[in-house]
Amino acid sequence: MAVIRACPHCGQKNRIPATHLADTGRCGACKNALPPVNEPLAADTALFDEILQNARVPVLVDFWADWCGPCRMAAPEVARTAADLAGQAIVLKVDSDKHHDLAARYNVRGIPNFLVLHNGKLVHQQAGLVGHDQMEAWLRSAATVSTPA
Ligand SMILES: [Zn+2]
Repeated sequence: MAVIRACPHCGQKNRIPATHLADTGRCGACKNALPPVNEPLAADTALFDEILQNARVPVLVDFWADWCGPCRMAAPEVARTAADLAGQAIVLKVDSDKHHDLAARYNVRGIPNFLVLHNGKLVHQQAGLVGHDQMEAWLRSAATVSTPA
């Protein structure tokens, strides 16, 4: 289970293991640097669990759905958070209509619904539209509360 990312230099598709999503890597083809993931990743249950277990940085999860107006308003804030905290956090988007198992696991009723996870544990959960500055504050605070050994 890995995330496929296209190299910004040569277009080669590289497989990035969950443990290295927040690291600078190297393209397998052209050997140029692959920057840390700087955009939200669409997650299914398998990818979610993989990242939850292996990420070494805090993870923000955005539960959303197509029909949800506030979710569409939150989307640019979520994307901005992923860009601002590239290398320091991982941002996932979960379609709550497609992944009822994840929504049920975290008792997600209203969306958008945001989770902050670190070291496999839920450290913050909040429903409703918030700005990227708020999301970034959650992630920064999660990183200081429990630093990986
Ligand atoms: Zn390349």
